[in-house]
Amino acid sequence: MPSVFIKTYGCQMNERDSEAVAAQLVAKGYTLAPSEAVADVVLLNTCSVRDFAERKAIGKMQNIAADVRKNRPNVVLGFMGCMAQSRGQELIDKLPDVDLVLGTQKFHHAADYLDEILSGHRDKIVDVAAEPGSEATIREHLLYGNVARNGDGHRPPLQVTAYVSIMQGCNQRCTFCIVPDTRGEERSRGIADIVSECRQLVSQGVKEITLLGQIVTSYGKRGNVSLAPRGTSGERVGARGILENGLLTPALSSFGEEREKTPFVQLLEAVHEIEGLERIRFTSPHPKGYGDDLIEAYAQLPKLVESAHLPVQSGSDRVLKLMHRGYTRERFLGLIKKLRRARPDIGITTDIIVGFPSETEDDFEQTLSLAHEVEFDNAYLFKYSPRRDTPAAGMPDQVPLKIREQRNHRLLETINEIGKRKYDAFVGRRTQILVEGPSRKNPARMTGRTRCNKIVVFDGSARHRGQLLDVKITRAGSFTLYGDPAIVNL
Ligand code: SAM
Repeated sequence: MPSVFIKTYGCQMNERDSEAVAAQLVAKGYTLAPSEAVADVVLLNTCSVRDFAERKAIGKMQNIAADVRKNRPNVVLGFMGCMAQSRGQELIDKLPDVDLVLGTQKFHHAADYLDEILSGHRDKIVDVAAEPGSEATIREHLLYGNVARNGDGHRPPLQVTAYVSIMQGCNQRCTFCIVPDTRGEERSRGIADIVSECRQLVSQGVKEITLLGQIVTSYGKRGNVSLAPRGTSGERVGARGILENGLLTPALSSFGEEREKTPFVQLLEAVHEIEGLERIRFTSPHPKGYGDDLIEAYAQLPKLVESAHLPVQSGSDRVLKLMHRGYTRERFLGLIKKLRRARPDIGITTDIIVGFPSETEDDFEQTLSLAHEVEFDNAYLFKYSPRRDTPAAGMPDQVPLKIREQRNHRLLETINEIGKRKYDAFVGRRTQILVEGPSRKNPARMTGRTRCNKIVVFDGSARHRGQLLDVKITRAGSFTLYGDPAIVNL
């Protein structure tokens, strides 16, 4: 059978999509190649969020195509994911060596389309059409790496953490963002379906699950989502927050009136019931989606770890309004306060865009001051990149690249300085980690993650994988903590 190499650009959602495609191909008998240089099939799973990400993938494909044309003409080349979706046929017109262009609602067809191309039945395939129900097709996992699961049933899985895709698409229409075009309208899977996938993962040794979606807090808000999980005989399962008759438990909002829990919180509660699951994370939420029920969930659900990624994008109300974000700086700060009240040790990370059209020095200073005020544990910084067909791309007063770069640099210094202080504060503290496996930088050491999502490197061994360990932090590096092996609880 052929071998496949998948290179992924962009976010965790893309990582998860690549894993699901790889798992489908492995189940069909493919092997996973260690690099594109030796693979029979090379797929690039692309990102469109910034122009840079698109250019990187196109450049990579140009290099691969040049090599393949000269040395290995039978290799099949494909683009999949966000850029494949937004550019479609245009990619093959530009790069005629490419055989397959697979959109974001078509990942589950990868194996069939590759069969058709490899067997010579079809020459080129471009499929970027919408497909109802595709949100529920990202379900296969690759917990056992390159080895098909049925080949070695007794081996512990290589992964103790897993991503589970709960929804696809985005309806937010932030003025800078191309995602609603590349991922389509919001579509959510049913709770029972998601819980069953999580249960399956836990039965295979997974201890931590991250629920994924473009805007997870919008889970279940649109369309006909079946919310309450059902037991084998069809009865409603008594997950907290869901009554036996299938009606939703009313929750009291902080204003005192009765309110239904949001579908996302209902999902968290249902996943929380899974025995053997130790930790739940989710990404990426929208600050608007943090209602009182979600804050309450942090206080009530111990498996929901004290970590939140809250993309703020800017500290200036004027810019937030132009971005169409739907919250103000004050509301965002209020949210942080509530979260810290519910979980004082919560780790908070964010996304920030610098140089949005018309951003002034004063707007930028407000972003700097917000970073100081919140004291983010870390932040992903993005220089604004105009995306085609987005309202912001046509806005007046585009900020010159040089200024975007300078602001990015200044903000990075601030984020690093705050991060250093926050990481240093862990030194001498005892903290729980979930051991994930060998450290990527130094495989002789092991790595784990704190509940607040900080990486801890320590001297351990393979038998620690999957364990929850208390370690004492001895040193803090740049966004990494180091634990003392002498005080690992064995
Ligand atoms: N859930 C997130 C939110 O609340 O907006 C969206 C995740 S988005 C795929 C990842 C990040 O990419 C965004 O948070 C934003 O900071 C950044 N981003 C999106 N469009 C961008 C653009 N045109 N230029 C620069 N950064 C962008």
